[in-house]
Amino acid sequence: MSIIRMKSAFRGVKLPENKFTEEEEIQTLPFPEKAVITLQQNIGAPCKATVKKRDEVKTGQKIADSESFVSAPIHSPISGKISRTGQLMNPVTGKLVDTITIKSDGEDNWVELEGIGNIGQIDNWDDIFSKIDKLSNKEILGKIREGGIVGLGGATFPTHVKLSPPPDKNIDTFILNGCECEPFITSDHRIMMEYGQTVILGLYIIKKVLDPGKVYIAIEDNKKDAIENLQKILIDMKLENIVNIISLPSRYPMGAEKTLIKTILNREVPIGGLPMDVGVVVNNVATSKAIAEAVIEGKPLIEKIVTVTGSFREPKNLLVRVGTPIIDLVDTCGMVERDKYKIILGGPMMGISINDFNFPVTKGTNCILVKEAIDKVEQNCIKCGRCISVCPMGLMPLMYPKFVKNDKYGQCNEYYINNCIECGSCSFVCPANIPIVGYIKTGKNKLAEKK
Ligand code: SF4
Ligand code: SF4
Repeated sequence: MSIIRMKSAFRGVKLPENKFTEEEEIQTLPFPEKAVITLQQNIGAPCKATVKKRDEVKTGQKIADSESFVSAPIHSPISGKISRTGQLMNPVTGKLVDTITIKSDGEDNWVELEGIGNIGQIDNWDDIFSKIDKLSNKEILGKIREGGIVGLGGATFPTHVKLSPPPDKNIDTFILNGCECEPFITSDHRIMMEYGQTVILGLYIIKKVLDPGKVYIAIEDNKKDAIENLQKILIDMKLENIVNIISLPSRYPMGAEKTLIKTILNREVPIGGLPMDVGVVVNNVATSKAIAEAVIEGKPLIEKIVTVTGSFREPKNLLVRVGTPIIDLVDTCGMVERDKYKIILGGPMMGISINDFNFPVTKGTNCILVKEAIDKVEQNCIKCGRCISVCPMGLMPLMYPKFVKNDKYGQCNEYYINNCIECGSCSFVCPANIPIVGYIKTGKNKLAEKK
């Protein structure tokens, strides 16, 4: 099979990569003594607890669910006893969320998993493909929902919903997204290196459900080893004729769905629309791994691979249970001089600064970044136009701070604020240190409140 090389279809920004952990093999962090589970782990409806204080639970047992279609159940990441139910401020949304705290019994006793195979023991790919083919799409989507799978590229949109496009949407293309364009983060890179077969099994399952004409794996060309590894696995599995790997230039924000679709297919997702409106579904490689584990092994989503990087003595990629306090990850990697640094949940471009180190890892956590805290003073816009030139969505970012400061949210709408993907490129290049994305988030929230 040949690798297709493409050029970027947007200007964007060339960022320093700082991928210090790209060669650090994933290490498993021991399960925590106490896990704190937030009951909003997906975009859409939050879950309600299906357990109560003092109940005993096993690892992998469902502990919260919702009747809404756009939601995904939550499972216990450890075995033990429910010690507390309460609320916590979510630093990402700024809202209080319900939580369940589980005290470990030190055992890690799992519920019995119902699957069709054990991924680590597969010695015949045709055999597992035939078992997957025997499952109906309804059965597969049910297993994905029951496994609590959500988009792990950061969006946390329930995966069974994404893979159930309405009948009027003709999905002709599926893109498996292995771009990981944000600096510092290497969790997807390591997943492609260490769980490549699981990722491709997930791709096979997605292909069966969507039945698209074309299937691509998109990877930035700064991850040549991942491209080679997945290419080899596709050949081993005899899938090389139905999947094409696309090598893309490393340019931010290549991994955003809309820029990826524009670059690969030259299709524009309409304002306020979704990739399915232009016949495309995009899933991240970590989600594909989770799909394979849920469908083949019956394993729910209770652990995450998280890059812990920046100002640490030993930056790492860690496999951690959801609900593990962030301080456990920070301590494992040896953070330097805590007072002078800030902790960011996510990468430097789209991440959120947090103060509560006890906030837990959630399904959406992919990076803990520690950076020096530098106070930047916001100055007046000098109308240099840099923010406009880098915006991958063709917006006029300089207008939003002005509108938001003057409560002119209607004008934000006229300037298509909801088409902003919050990539942070405009703030990054602004010489006046204007936190443009912060203003954009405020503008979007105000508009949503008015609806
Ligand atoms: S306006 Fe939005 S999409 Fe455009 S550069 Fe800024 S954050 Fe990115
Ligand atoms: S980059 Fe900053 S200073 Fe330049 S036009 Fe945009 S908002 Fe104004």
